[in-house]
Amino acid sequence: MTTEEWSRLDKKHCWHPFTAQEEWTAETHQPLLLQSGTGVWLRDTEGNEYIDGNASIWTNIHGHNHPVLNQALTNQLEKVAHTSFLGFGHPLASELAQRLCGFFPENSLQRCFFSDDGSTAIEVAMKMSLQSRIQSEDPRENQRVGFLSFNNAYHGDTMGAASVGGVAAFFDRFSKLGLPTRTVHSLTELKALSTKELRKMTAVIIEPLIQGVNQITPWETGMLAELRDWTTEHGLHLILDEVMTGFGRTGEMFACQHEKVIPDFLCLAKGLTAGYLPLAATLTTETIYEHFLGGRENTFYYGHSYTANPLGCAVALASLDLFQKEQTLENVNQRAEEMKALFQKHLSSLPTVHEIRQLGLISGIELRTDKGEPFPVENRVGEHVCQAARKHALLTRPILDTIVLMPPLCISSEELEKAVMALAHGIQEGCP
Ligand SMILES: *Cc1c(COP(=O)(O)O)cnc(C)c1O
Repeated sequence: MTTEEWSRLDKKHCWHPFTAQEEWTAETHQPLLLQSGTGVWLRDTEGNEYIDGNASIWTNIHGHNHPVLNQALTNQLEKVAHTSFLGFGHPLASELAQRLCGFFPENSLQRCFFSDDGSTAIEVAMKMSLQSRIQSEDPRENQRVGFLSFNNAYHGDTMGAASVGGVAAFFDRFSKLGLPTRTVHSLTELKALSTKELRKMTAVIIEPLIQGVNQITPWETGMLAELRDWTTEHGLHLILDEVMTGFGRTGEMFACQHEKVIPDFLCLAKGLTAGYLPLAATLTTETIYEHFLGGRENTFYYGHSYTANPLGCAVALASLDLFQKEQTLENVNQRAEEMKALFQKHLSSLPTVHEIRQLGLISGIELRTDKGEPFPVENRVGEHVCQAARKHALLTRPILDTIVLMPPLCISSEELEKAVMALAHGIQEGCP
């Protein structure tokens, strides 16, 4: 088949996520079909090569087609691809759970519940938090049924996870059907809520240190530690959504380690399998876990068919080994410094670059008019800039007019410079 034929079939039968299908299927739209990749590079069906500037939607860590990760998968494939975690265990899940819990002190996150993706990792945390309150012997705890979340937060698209999301375009139309959620803009606003209201809440959920989908927006330094203290004071669970920040992207293995915070629930997905397979984990404490003991009626009746998929576990374990072998965190911290310097040198003086936000290898370049005003939304400047950057061999996506650059963590100095130069060209060519 040819690119043209694949495109025709895509337009006839596929339905893409977060996509205005009428535009996608328009005669004039030529979808880019990716077929293979090596390291930070992706190749389309026409043989063109691009740097994977958003790490295949924030998942890729060690690069594509990594021989060690491939080998781990092949080894497991020769044993078995999938077995049920309902009623059975398997060696790799035991090891992976131990490795993940091993990042945290003995008396903290020592229980690991596997699921499939970021949304389900969040869904699990939310249901565990709620059910632990329902099963509490203290009747006051039973009244804790609501969630506290932050404006413009993103936690995934299943109904529960979307209920605590703060992006109006994604969930407003369903809001009456969602779980009870109170959204605040800041820690100050959170702290101002009445004790009466707080007693009806079970948990606060947050993307620690930096919000991703909200155009790469960092929280103030120290905010997370302060939030942890405050939630503890008020008997609220703290759910950390590290689906994007987890596995090295911020320069520490987990973002919460920057402020020495340990949550009640830690949600992991995207980078867990280094961008290879869908697998997620929700870590929690023995304190939460104990609410689910003491009789069958206290069971957590939740699970998915592919829970703890052995192939996913195999690649996740191999990825954790690579963090040590390839000194991934050191690479992130060195490349992050270089990225900062490259942005300064090549982007900061461009008239339409309004603000550059960065943490580790997570970055967002916000574009505005040379007068500092946002471009009209309908001009879709961010999209034009990414289209232009594509001609310079960089693939990435904008969030409104913020261009995201979040490459695989294995990126080299040379590749990083290429990516930033492509962005510089893209911004110059794509801005009005
Ligand atoms: C991507 C993302 C999710 C959702 O993960 P999926 O795997 O897409 O379901 C949740 N939270 C954050 C912070 C994310 O970036």
